[in-house]
Amino acid sequence: MAININPDGLHVFMCASHVIIGDGIAGASAAESIREGDPEAEVTVLTEEGEALYNRILIKEFAKGKLPAAPVSIHDPEWYDERDINLHLDTVVTDVDTDAYEVHTHGGETYEYDKLLVATGGTPTQLPVDNSDAEGVHHFWTFQDARAIKESAADAEKGVVVGAGLLGIDLAAICGAQNVDAHYLMRGESWWRYALSPEGAELIHEAMEDIGVTPVFDSGVDHFETDEESHVTAAVDPNGERFEADFAGVAIGLNFNTEFLRGSGIETDNGIITDEYMRTNVEDVYAAGDITQFHDVILGDRAQNGAWGSAKEQGSIAGQNMVADGPEAEFSWVSSYSITHFDFPFLSFGHPTRGDDSVERKYDDGTWRRVALKNGRVIGGVLIGDLSAQSVLKKLARRQLDVSERTDLLLKQGVDIDAFEERATTE
Ligand SMILES: Cc1cc2nc3c(=O)[nH]c(=O)nc-3n(C[C@H](O)[C@H](O)[C@H](O)COP(=O)(O)OP(=O)(O)OC[C@H]3O[C@@H](n4cnc5c(N)ncnc54)[C@H](O)[C@@H]3O)c2cc1C
Repeated sequence: MAININPDGLHVFMCASHVIIGDGIAGASAAESIREGDPEAEVTVLTEEGEALYNRILIKEFAKGKLPAAPVSIHDPEWYDERDINLHLDTVVTDVDTDAYEVHTHGGETYEYDKLLVATGGTPTQLPVDNSDAEGVHHFWTFQDARAIKESAADAEKGVVVGAGLLGIDLAAICGAQNVDAHYLMRGESWWRYALSPEGAELIHEAMEDIGVTPVFDSGVDHFETDEESHVTAAVDPNGERFEADFAGVAIGLNFNTEFLRGSGIETDNGIITDEYMRTNVEDVYAAGDITQFHDVILGDRAQNGAWGSAKEQGSIAGQNMVADGPEAEFSWVSSYSITHFDFPFLSFGHPTRGDDSVERKYDDGTWRRVALKNGRVIGGVLIGDLSAQSVLKKLARRQLDVSERTDLLLKQGVDIDAFEERATTE
């Protein structure tokens, strides 16, 4: 509780103190909604990074060399000043004492809170192979990483990319845009094999070839080779094949930043467990963004999203509930993630890698769709080439209508929601 004294010096009043760890889109959105909900509250944002909120989605365009730095930034420090939000850059939280309602930092500072939000996201997983820390081997999460990648790729002639998912393809696209002759080393027989069938992935493989990136299947990295200056020179895959590279991009997943919560009593399991109101198991402690393993009311199960829109919404929901007396706002959201590197659109939505069934169709050489189902309900999917069905498919996912009897209708070019709604009302 912070004590404020009115300018007349006569009135003293107490206001709530909200501390937010992390100034990504989840933390910054929470700060904004707390300020909107309570003009008097003390709001403090602590971030390890040396810069205020920027658009993490756009850093790949910056690394491609196609976008100047300015549009990547979202808030400058004045944005926080104008809203009376205390922003502390370069501040690493080292532990949280939930009994004393205190947050401690690496600099020895203590911040007291009434309500705490943890929005610390993740850190890229290091490839556990020899020389993965060599010069020229890059992991990708921050604007700082993007600056290093941009420079390194601009100087490179040959590259390798590892990690057959949504961030790996960004690194492949950066190689393409920076004219790095690259091999994309993938573990299985196709890109993002948990969400796309080989037939769908083939469209992506062809698009990679078009930008000068060669996919290599049933591969990966056994170790990197380096020169006497510890700069990467090649990647050797588990089959013994050697790929020359003076640039390497690695995107094999995230480690969620929960280590500083050890001993706090906050329940974690590959992230922080929350309910649909973004509350953790510990009173007055909330979590939002990539870090949450939240109760997904649509799925009826625990879920995790790694998407900008979802992190923004969770931050906003957490902020509203931190200010309110009880849980008011509920997180109910179908996330989406698009790829804009190629001359056709690509969108994944919901939870395309989960489910107990799926239907898919290739319409022509550039158009493909897959819809993931669980218990006869749409829970996610991937659209390539033609995104016109996205809003209906997302609506079906949101409403959890039973589509099991007419899954063929999900693959019609124009999906008609009435056909499913009529069924639901006549049942
Ligand atoms: C290159 C790239 C491209 C992407 N493209 C897309 C896209 O096209 N579409 C899409 O939907 N999503 C995309 N994403 C994912 C999206 O950016 C994330 O889902 C989103 O930014 C998550 O926001 P967040 O606030 O939860 O976490 P983050 O943005 O990771 O923010 C967490 C913050 O907490 C800080 N922090 C961590 N630990 C501590 C600590 N102990 N003390 C203090 N501060 C700490 C971190 O430094 C960081 O600033 C992309 C991500 C990347 C990296």
